[in-house]
Amino acid sequence: MARIAIGGFQHETNTFAPSKADYAAFEAGGGWPGVQYGAPLFAAVEGANIPAAGAIGALRASGHSLVATAWAAASPSAHVMSDAFERIAGELIARLKDALPVGGVYLDLHGAMVVESYEDGEGELLRRVREVVGPRVPVVASLDLHANVTRAMVERADALVAYRTYPHVDMAETGARAARLLDQMLRAGQRPVGEFRALDYLTGLPSQCSFIEPCRSIYRELEAIEQREGVTLSFTPGFPMADFAECGMAVFGYGANAKSAIERLHRIVADAEPRFALELHAAADGVRRAKSRGEVGAPVVLADTQDNPGAGGNGDTTGVLRALIEQQADEALLGMLIDPASADRAHAAGVNSRVNFSLGGKSGIAGDAPLAGEFTVERLGDGRFTCTGPMFKGFRMTLGNMALLRSRAAPGVRVVLASRKCQAADQEMFRHLGVEPRRSRIVALKSSVHFRADFEPIAKEVLVVKSPGPALADPAEFHWRKLRKGVRLRPLGPVHA
Ligand SMILES: [Zn+2]
Repeated sequence: MARIAIGGFQHETNTFAPSKADYAAFEAGGGWPGVQYGAPLFAAVEGANIPAAGAIGALRASGHSLVATAWAAASPSAHVMSDAFERIAGELIARLKDALPVGGVYLDLHGAMVVESYEDGEGELLRRVREVVGPRVPVVASLDLHANVTRAMVERADALVAYRTYPHVDMAETGARAARLLDQMLRAGQRPVGEFRALDYLTGLPSQCSFIEPCRSIYRELEAIEQREGVTLSFTPGFPMADFAECGMAVFGYGANAKSAIERLHRIVADAEPRFALELHAAADGVRRAKSRGEVGAPVVLADTQDNPGAGGNGDTTGVLRALIEQQADEALLGMLIDPASADRAHAAGVNSRVNFSLGGKSGIAGDAPLAGEFTVERLGDGRFTCTGPMFKGFRMTLGNMALLRSRAAPGVRVVLASRKCQAADQEMFRHLGVEPRRSRIVALKSSVHFRADFEPIAKEVLVVKSPGPALADPAEFHWRKLRKGVRLRPLGPVHA
């Protein structure tokens, strides 16, 4: 039985997004527990679908003793500011030094962090961890499915293990899987053979969903190869919004047969390229189709993917809301529009008051503007509730002032405001304001894919709409500068030169 240090530092960086992540962004957490130092970490993640929670449970079950260092996560955004990185990484490293000697290290990482001062945030963190514990102490990290895995990360960790679902319903399970691998390594007393290969094309977020093809089949085949070959494999479709050399998709794995298994998996993902294409709808077209097909009890769900707060959007663009109002949609619900000033105004005015708002549109996104109009304040909330959907299960939300507004110009349209950024991926975000999403004909969500875990079961149909926002659904539309040359910017698309 070993003494194992636990830490975590998660950020998904969209280098094209409008706002950076400062230390306060990690304190706020964006739905995650916020910055944790030392032993309070254990209670902060307990019972939630969080990788560290799964790892802690599995390591304790194997009889290891645990020491908590630091854990932090923030909403996806542009770069992590150097000050925030140094404070959190500095605390993690200082506490790791205090914990020595340790027999192993488990880290709960995202894998797509770009810091102002380091393009490969996790590579730098792993370098520092390795420097403290030396070459022989096993260091294992779990990663998000959207990790942009680098060679430095692979070299500095003994093993990396990524989620297999998008929506990420397996976060805690992945932490547990990483922990079991660490436990096996401690028992075997040796580092497993590792293999890593990058792919040479990018895919947009909406087409990476593991509920649909081609990812559904890829992950099924991954598990079949694992069982056959006795290896641990990961496929990360990556986060195609981080402009640095090693951005993109990768496959990696561990075990005696890792080399041949990874070659096989690499071939499967390479061959899947044409099947990663996805149909997108203009906002006006999406609303038109949703109006004709949606029913109370079986709404059409519109995914406003390009303003997804889970991919660096601020959740405040107004294109879809504008289309709903212009087309006089009936029994339509949109959420969450992140606008703290308007949420405060609604609270100041009170329930049943009519107020002229200038909603959203404050991030300076080209083609977007605030939406002015009169709304009735129907319901208010303090933003404190616990999520119940398959992905955010157990997450304790603190979203600040929230409000439910009804448009006076289009009385069939209601919008949920929140004060702190979080992706609309759990029905509790609406129920907190007394709204049952199923009772709508149209539900428009600021999300790319995560919403599918909780909303697809009630949806008649899902349409991914393309409206102005910083999380472009087609990676070829970004102005890439630092990406390595030779990568196709979308499946079968133009080559970055
Ligand atoms: Zn992710």
